[in-house]
Amino acid sequence: MKWLGFLLALPLLAADYKAGFGRMDITPAQPIYLSGYAARKKPSEGVLQKIWAKALAIEDNKGNRVVIVTTDLIGLPRHVSDQIGAEVEKRYRLRRNQLLLNSSHTHSAPVVHGNLTSMFDLTPGQKRAITDYTQTLAKQIADVVGSALGNMQTARLDIGHGTGSFAVNRRVLTPTGVKGGVNPAGPVDQDVPVVRVAGANGQLLGVLFGYACHNTTMGGDFFQVNGDYAGFAQASFEAAHPNSTAMFLMLCGADANPNPRGTVALVEQHGASLAKEVTRVLAGKLEPVSGQLRSAFHTAELAFVPHTRETFETESKDSNWYKQQRASAMLAAYDRRAPVRSIPYPVQGIRLGKSLTLVALGGEVVVDYNLRLKKEFPGENLIVAGYSNDVMCYIPSLRVLKEGGYEANDSMIYYGQPGPFTEDVEDRVMQMVYKVMDRLGRKR
Ligand SMILES: [Zn+2]
Repeated sequence: MKWLGFLLALPLLAADYKAGFGRMDITPAQPIYLSGYAARKKPSEGVLQKIWAKALAIEDNKGNRVVIVTTDLIGLPRHVSDQIGAEVEKRYRLRRNQLLLNSSHTHSAPVVHGNLTSMFDLTPGQKRAITDYTQTLAKQIADVVGSALGNMQTARLDIGHGTGSFAVNRRVLTPTGVKGGVNPAGPVDQDVPVVRVAGANGQLLGVLFGYACHNTTMGGDFFQVNGDYAGFAQASFEAAHPNSTAMFLMLCGADANPNPRGTVALVEQHGASLAKEVTRVLAGKLEPVSGQLRSAFHTAELAFVPHTRETFETESKDSNWYKQQRASAMLAAYDRRAPVRSIPYPVQGIRLGKSLTLVALGGEVVVDYNLRLKKEFPGENLIVAGYSNDVMCYIPSLRVLKEGGYEANDSMIYYGQPGPFTEDVEDRVMQMVYKVMDRLGRKR
């Protein structure tokens, strides 16, 4: 029976996957408005740190493929993601469900055309700089997908989890409503998932890691391009592990901020602490990833509270410039006989056997979704990313929606959305997550 033992041993010797990384410098060459803070009234002034688009291609032994893209950017709106998706399908025959586009949400990277449309009062030249940057970006991201696919080699994947230290809930409940600040009693998720990708000889090729915390160590008074803590974490890891690629996945950190924040010393400190935690996880016991690769991508519809033309005719006369901008966008939609009643909402899932499931949600997703999904799918080794495939506004849970505040209401102004969502928003998101999980072979 010696031959049978040999045959049984074979699957253990063979690596289950091929994997490859790609990367591209997407640092703007010219001064350009940095996104995320309405307080900024001038373009960037120099570069503190290069920003990157990176990709990880994974293929299982049946030829199923996915490519995960991470970017040091505020967020990719749907029209940009669609453009990249179409190009990637044409060039590499990857369907949309095989491509995940995540942004770190750094507030020190260029405005992406079509994202946060009512945030800045721009000159025609500044607008052109943004549309030019966005067009180049879409091509660069398609290129980086190609690099990752071209670099695929026999690989093994392992997963572990660490714990972050600096995320703090930023919604402070006061008698006069929710205010932005520091709320140590509020919910956060300190999980730092780490996927290690190694070559056939065991050499480290790179890591994919994540954290659920706004990438906002630097404030609106800072004008040098950088990837914020996520950028510094990637750079710090790569400096300590030469020839490796570190990719940061932004999880559901919409209602968490780094604490403390506001200086270059702090952004370096947070980045270094996260990189150190990733390194610590790699040195510990990791779980091997194995099994078939599956992916699914579906779109829900999230509804806004009903509004009328009069709502925005009144708002257009408001003294607040941002409200005027939102109102004019809404009135233009009424003029087209297509008032904005809802948004399409992308939900993607990638599952590797029973070892690892990555759920990727669109928009700025609050931590409640992350915590709820982990509770509902125990033992699934779940990573729940936000800021994926489309960043069109905040996605509050029912709790956050009812409490109100920036994430539920005011942020809609800067995103040029009517807002707020109807009270079934969480339910609509969850129903679509269940559908995606079903498609991945994971019933509740
Ligand atoms: Zn944000």
